[in-house]
Formats: sequence, C-alpha cells, structure tokens
Amino acid sequence: MSEAESLNVLHSTQVVIQEALQRLGYAPEMYELLKEPLRMLTVRIPVRMDDGRVQVFTGYRAQHNDAVGPTKGGVRFHPGVYEDEIKALSIWMSLKCGIVDLPYGGGKGGIICDPRKMSFGELERLSRGYVRAISQLVGPTKDIPAPDVMTNSQIMAWMLDEYSHIREYDSPGFITGKPLVLGGSHGRETATAKGVTIMIDEALKKRGISLQNARVIVQGFGNAGSYLSKFMHEAGAKVIGISDVQGALYDPNGLDIEYLLDRRDSFGTVTNLFQNTLTNKEILEQECDILVPAAIENQITIENAHLIKAGIVVEAANGPTTLEATKILTDRGILLVPDVLASAGGVVVSYFEWVQNNQGYYWTEEEVHTKLQEVMVKAFDNVYNVHSTRHVDMRLAAYIVGVRKMAEASRFRGWV
Ligand code: GLU
Repeated sequence: MSEAESLNVLHSTQVVIQEALQRLGYAPEMYELLKEPLRMLTVRIPVRMDDGRVQVFTGYRAQHNDAVGPTKGGVRFHPGVYEDEIKALSIWMSLKCGIVDLPYGGGKGGIICDPRKMSFGELERLSRGYVRAISQLVGPTKDIPAPDVMTNSQIMAWMLDEYSHIREYDSPGFITGKPLVLGGSHGRETATAKGVTIMIDEALKKRGISLQNARVIVQGFGNAGSYLSKFMHEAGAKVIGISDVQGALYDPNGLDIEYLLDRRDSFGTVTNLFQNTLTNKEILEQECDILVPAAIENQITIENAHLIKAGIVVEAANGPTTLEATKILTDRGILLVPDVLASAGGVVVSYFEWVQNNQGYYWTEEEVHTKLQEVMVKAFDNVYNVHSTRHVDMRLAAYIVGVRKMAEASRFRGWV
C-alpha cells in the first residue's frame, strides 16, 4: 500500500471490510455493496455572516447501509472535512452499531468550517441551514444525527428546532446528544469516555494489570479526551500526558487534571496556558502503560508505531492508527482496542436516548450506566474471542463482528 493509500481512511477501511467478508465466506458482491455508502448527499449552505457577507459552506451526509435499521451517526464541524472521510466515518458507524448490536446502520455528516472562528449566531444559522439542506433524507426512522468533532448539545438543539419547524411537530427522536430538557439522555455527554473507560478495564484484565497508578496518556482534550482524563484520574490512574490542538503537556508524576479541566476552553484547548509543552507527535512516544488517541485520524503511522511505549492502546478517536501501524503494534505484542469497538459508547447511549424519546419514558443515570456497561463488556468479549480463536488482530476481529449483522440483513433482504 502506498503512503497516500495508507492515509486515505476510506481505502484502509475498505481493505479490512473486504478481508472480514472473505473470512466470513461472503461472495465478492457483498463487498461491492458494502465498500461505499448507499447514499451520499453533498449540500451547499449559504450563511449570512455577522459582517453582512454571505458565506457558502459545503456539507455532507452519508448513509452507509440501512439493511438493519435507520442509519445513525454524528455531524462534525471541521475545516479538514472531506468526502472520503465522511464516507469512511459512515462505514465505521455501521461497524460500531454491528459490534454493540444496535438496530441501526451507519451514517455520518460533516461541514467544512472552523467553528473556533465563528460566532454563536453564525453557528446557529449554519446548523439550521444544514438541517434544511438534508431534511428530505433524515428523520427518526430514517437517519438520526448526533454530535461529533466540534459539535455539541447546543448545536443538536438548534438542529432539532429547525427540523421540528419543517415537519410541524416536535420530533425529539430526530437527533441525539440533545440537552436534557429537550429529551436528551442522562449519561450521553460522558458516554464515549465511559465506554472507553470500560474498554480500558477489560484490556487491563487481559493483561493482569491494575488501574491503580497505571500511567495513562490521552491525546486530545475534546469531549472524549477530557472526560476520559477525569474518569481515569478519579479511578486512581496517573494521567501523565494530555494534548490539544496546540500542543501537549507531560509530567511523569501525574498532571493536575482538575485544574486542566477547569481551565479548558469550550473547544478543549488548555495547553496554550503553559510554556513547557511537547508536540502532539511527541506525547504519543512517551513512556506509559495505556495510550489513548482521542483526537483525529492517522496519528499512529508507519513513522512512529515502533516508538510507542504503551502496552495497551485504546482508540477513542475514529481512525487514529493506520493499517501498517496496527500491524507493527500487534507484532510488538501491544494490545490494541480498535476505534469501532472502543469509541462505541457514544452511539450506545444515543440509542438509549432515541429509545427513551420513542417511549416518552426517561431513565435514571444509573440505569443508563448499567446498560452501557453490559453492552460494552459483551462487545469486548465478542471481539476478543474472535481475535483469539481466529488468530487475527483486534481490528480485523472487530470488523468481522461488526460487518456480520449488516451482511446477513442485506442477504435476507435479497440485496445480494
Ligand atoms: N459521533 C459519535 C461517534 O462517532 C456518536 C454518534 C452517535 O451517537 O450517533 O460514534
């Protein structure tokens, strides 16, 4: 695989899907169906900016496969969003839903924009414009958006309000990750990080290591990274490294996580307040027990995989490790918990939120956590069993588990 191919997330996910389907004994037609989303919508969204100009933004919504049920997945706001990335992310959502056994297929959306440089009013108009542009394609039984990179419960609230205006009825099940007062679920905000915590516990058990005083490095201080650092710190682990878009902090004696959480801005930036920082690349290579990439794609590559010192790598971000790097880490005996398993906690609680919206009956935080724990542990066991019985790496094992249900459902529907 060339360098460019290995960094193209769509290409690398296709390689693993193909291998997983072959190992499950499916004919090549199944791969032809599943290698790309069933639908991909590109939209142009004109937004009146605060200075009076109109800026036209480009957005996407991909629906990978709806054989199992409606498609589900977040919407990211990021300047680096591109079409193949959104396609890959929609495929990963299908795999996540398969791994944790939800009645959904995968979807994903994104807008090329930089929310750090936009006002509240501009973000609201952009969010509403996006919903108007995709409204024909989405809905509580069709495709259900949610938060992702640089989107949050406020943005979900604007999107819900716009959708309810278009449909002329309140429709809380159209979107998840909403504020509690608009039908959100307890535990959704922290769900991805909680899910990663559960995965870390399971991985530690396999390695016979205790979480007490285990040294953890978390790359990324957004929704997943910041809550995860908090949970690790509260559980008695030593968080010795964190990072954000500007740089990284490292202290082998443990960082003052409470202080950092307190000083973090709404986009998760905090390292700009310090002088002695490392780069995002350097932080990955420090001595630690558990490394959690919780930022963006292609962070562990052929360039640095041999420099990783952690015994366990748990991927809270989508696509942080390339396929070559996965092989290097696996060959070096590092236990890798892949993204499609490790970061599935978010969509699990999104599903709980949608179920509560459909029932109009709401659960306690404890109920949400107990159910999340059950689902995540079962998913880990399933993937780990495939990994050890079929002698495949953890990523391929997760794909084998994740692709099976949608392939079966597509076959029963007579599509292939
Ligand atoms: N954006 C999250 C993810 O990548 C959550 C998606 C959802 O809740 O639908 O898994």
